[in-house]
Amino acid sequence: MLDLTYEAPKPKVIQGAKHDWELVIGLEVHAQVASRAKLFSGASTQFGAEPNSNVAFVDAGMPGMLPVINEGCVALAVKTGLGLKAKINLVSAFDRKNYFYPDLPQGYQISQLYHPIVGEGEVLVDMAPGIARLVRIERIHLEQDAGKSIHDMDPNMSFVDLNRTGVALMEIVSRPDIRGPEEAAAYVGKLRQIMRYLGTCDGNMQNGNLRADVNVSVCRPGDYEKYQETQDFSHLGTRCEIKNMNSMRFIQQAIEVEARRQIAILEDGGTVVQETRLYDPDKGETRSMRSKEEAHDYRYFPCPDLLPLEIEQDFVDGIAAGLPELPDEKKARFVLDYGMTEYDAGVLTADVENAVYFEEVARGRDGKLAANWVINELFGRLKKDEKTIGESPVSPQQLGGIIELIGKGDISGKIAKDLFEIVYVEGGDPAEIVESRGMRQVTDTGAIEAAVDQIIADNPAQVEKAKVNPKLAGWFVGQVMKATGGKANPAAVNQIVAAKLGL
Ligand code: ADP
Ligand code: MG
Repeated sequence: MLDLTYEAPKPKVIQGAKHDWELVIGLEVHAQVASRAKLFSGASTQFGAEPNSNVAFVDAGMPGMLPVINEGCVALAVKTGLGLKAKINLVSAFDRKNYFYPDLPQGYQISQLYHPIVGEGEVLVDMAPGIARLVRIERIHLEQDAGKSIHDMDPNMSFVDLNRTGVALMEIVSRPDIRGPEEAAAYVGKLRQIMRYLGTCDGNMQNGNLRADVNVSVCRPGDYEKYQETQDFSHLGTRCEIKNMNSMRFIQQAIEVEARRQIAILEDGGTVVQETRLYDPDKGETRSMRSKEEAHDYRYFPCPDLLPLEIEQDFVDGIAAGLPELPDEKKARFVLDYGMTEYDAGVLTADVENAVYFEEVARGRDGKLAANWVINELFGRLKKDEKTIGESPVSPQQLGGIIELIGKGDISGKIAKDLFEIVYVEGGDPAEIVESRGMRQVTDTGAIEAAVDQIIADNPAQVEKAKVNPKLAGWFVGQVMKATGGKANPAAVNQIVAAKLGL
């Protein structure tokens, strides 16, 4: 396998009034486990269901109800861990995080503070061809989601929808290894891509399937390197946590705005107070939500309703054996097998559906040409119609057929574009369309010679000029192409024109 090597991107530098500052970012990403049932109950996780229709007694916090762990969710968390090259903990345990909130009827969230199911891992965050940052994962733990309070349905009352209460989340905690807003968004994008390949999280940010708490601090150039050497956090600035971000664009804006706020405080001689903040996209500012809470504020303790979670190495090995090819491996293989650029391989592996489509087109055909056609023609055309690859009117077989016709010299690249449009709009077999519509390229040199002779005879003045200035041969080529409806083989036309003009 080809091993693509990467250079680390430069950290983002923000200019303050007095000094330059660098950003340090760590993310806690909440990813909804792609399970049809909740973490501790059999209630459905279906999105958009009638409010409070997917609620088991245990989700509603009814007295005497006991949680029962969903093995499917455990398997998906392990699979996610393996996909992030992380250590899987065969023994983990659930804790109660106590707090009061109307959408949390139990009065506590079941989470894994002390013994998470997944330990240290890593993610390669690609920024540009040849440039990527390795971000360390600290842990992944399983926990319950809360419900939703609804404040805008009635002027005097608030409502609560418990459908989401108890849905399984994976909280993926990164080390503070992210060094800029674009990197933070790319990191979330990469996690999403990997989990979609694995089938462990849909990654639909609009539906709240993937949300991030963003920790931001600023430091002076050189301080981060000291932290790296010692892993001593005192070299870093005080962080603030921006809660519950569910859009890549807002994540980037919030980081930038928060960093500038902290820089202004520091340059003014003040100190940053560690706290939890909210981003207001309308005002373009973050504001304080609550002061930083510590583990003891939540009175965490082991959940007495659940035994420690013990899994067998065999269970983990079985999941490892079924792992699909992941984005980094697929990208490296595409570069190696098809001779395409890393950039193109990145585009084709962005979504697993794209990659599958492309490989069907490329199988047994010219891989580079196939990559070109899928990226430039197909993706371009689909984008114009706002269609996904799954909705493509052109099947991989049809596109493959077009590529074969080009390869055999039956059609020119230009005619192929017309043919693609016909297949896209009307459907049909490309080879049959070429026959029935007379689109085949003219390679018969006799026919081309006749056309060249005719144009030379009709334009004696142009012939004289071309003899002095050979660049004018292009004009003759153009005329022949026009006369043959674009079907003449361009290489043959060039050659015959040059010969007849004596160039
Ligand atoms: P807590 O549970 O109190 O929020 P954690 O140690 O779990 O604290 O850290 C939460 C997140 O904050 C992690 O993603 C971590 O990488 C990040 N983080 C820690 N220190 C900093 C810092 N100085 N600047 C930015 N992010 C940080
Ligand atoms: Mg936290």
